[in-house]
Amino acid sequence: MEASVLSETNRTQIREQLLARQRELSEVAQAESRAVAAALHRLDEGHYGVCETCGAKIDAKRLAAVPCTDQCQSCAAQANS
Ligand SMILES: [Zn+2]
Repeated sequence: MEASVLSETNRTQIREQLLARQRELSEVAQAESRAVAAALHRLDEGHYGVCETCGAKIDAKRLAAVPCTDQCQSCAAQANS
């Protein structure tokens, strides 16, 4: 490869975009990892599948779709509104 097709300005901008994306992915992975650890803890403690907000049993379909969830559909919907 000879001279880059990118100007120095483009290279800097692309580097910043890539680094921002890397940070974003790292934050998502860390949040997911924390959620998994918390779900494992709930499983060990015997209250996996119980809504942390209202104490109701979380629907099996919801748990299958979102295994790390600590809220029932109703509480999750309220939290997101
Ligand atoms: Zn609930």
